[in-house]
Parts: sequence; C-alpha cells; structure tokens
Amino acid sequence: MTITGHKQQVIFCDFDGTITENDNIVAIMKHFDPPGWSDIVQRILDRSISIREGVGSMFNLFPASRKEEIVHYAINNAVIRKGLPELLDYCRQHNITFYVTSGGIDFFVYPLLAPYPIDPSLIYCNGSNFSGDNIRIEWPHPCDEHCQVDCGMCKTTIIRRFPADQYERILIGDSITDFEGAKLADLVFARSHLEDKCKELGIPFIPYTTFDDVTNNLKSRNLEGKDESTGV
Ligand code: MG
Ligand code: ZN
Repeated sequence: MTITGHKQQVIFCDFDGTITENDNIVAIMKHFDPPGWSDIVQRILDRSISIREGVGSMFNLFPASRKEEIVHYAINNAVIRKGLPELLDYCRQHNITFYVTSGGIDFFVYPLLAPYPIDPSLIYCNGSNFSGDNIRIEWPHPCDEHCQVDCGMCKTTIIRRFPADQYERILIGDSITDFEGAKLADLVFARSHLEDKCKELGIPFIPYTTFDDVTNNLKSRNLEGKDESTGV
C-alpha cells in the first residue's frame, strides 16, 4: 500500500493569497482606505485583538450602503492563481475532496469561485450582513473547544472532523492563518508567510507557486504509492 494506505485524501485549500493571488480583505481596505483600518491591522498583528475581532471591526467601518462598490471592486480586482481548474480536475478523477477553507467573506469568495466546479457545500468562509447601518461580518464556523485562537472561520475545527486514521489531510495555504492547520495536516503545500513559518518551526512542507506545482506533486506522490502497492 501507499504511505497513505487506504486513506481518503482530502484537501483544505485557503482562499485569499492562495486561490487568489492577493489577499482580498487587504486589497479592499487599501483601496477604500476607511479611517482607522490600519490601526486595527496593527492590533491584529501585535495580537492585542483576534483575527475575528479585527476583521469584524474593519468591515464595520463601512456603511452598508457601500455594498455594491465594495463587492464590485473585490470581484473585479482578484486574480485566480494558475492551475486551479487542472487541480480540481485531478481531484475529481481521483476522488479527492477539495474543500475551500477561507477566512474571507462570502460576498467575494462565492462569486469568484462560481466559474469553477466546486460544490458550494464544500466552501467554508465567513458571512456578511448589509441590513444594518454598517457592514457586519458573521461567523458561521467558529472555533471548537480545541482552538483558543478566535479565528473567525476556524480551519482546524474543520480539519479535526477528518480523523487522521481515515484521511490523509492535505493543506494548501500561504499565511499565518494557515499555520495551526499546517501543524495538524499530514501534507502541507506552502508559499509566502506560511513557508517562512513552517521553516522557522520545522514543519515539513512542499513549496508551490502555481496549482500546477501542487497537481504535479500529488500525481507523482500518488503514482509512487500505486507502484508500491502493486509491487511494480
Ligand atoms: Mg491566505
Ligand atoms: Zn480556531
């Protein structure tokens, strides 16, 4: 059998900075520059507030009436990383479930993924509410009792639903918010800050630039496994 044995492979793929080349929340804030947002970022970075609190407060700086221009900007500004359709194809052919685990917001995550064959039930992200005076971010996927990070959308909570004895859990990510997941995952594809962080703490990872790198690595890894299992 392969290293993964009979385990079902499952991918947890980050969205901002991974599926899209840049971070959409940062892009929105930089573009519209609501007064006070950079102080909030600073407080997230020095950890005096959680990611959930910070992201919620930043969007709360916007009147809900600006919904359309913000959504329009986010959707038209984002660039999807090369190789996503081919990776999704490979996953479909090999019965690998591809989850999107995103700290991003529904109003840009779903429209940007709509052209791709990903069932919406496999997409985890935060919600948004434009019915009040200001934009309110909603958190349908909070941390479970094992996570004290106050993530907002908790990646490790989702990964924990896939026990290591039944699944080979593969994480694809780019930043600090993927790091707790990377500690849990069985295989990590990392770029940017996540790559640095993995190096710093000695977590094994495979670097990638495009999703083609990920697909090719999975292909060769799964082929090796087959060769061993058949003794060829
Ligand atoms: Mg990211
Ligand atoms: Zn969490």
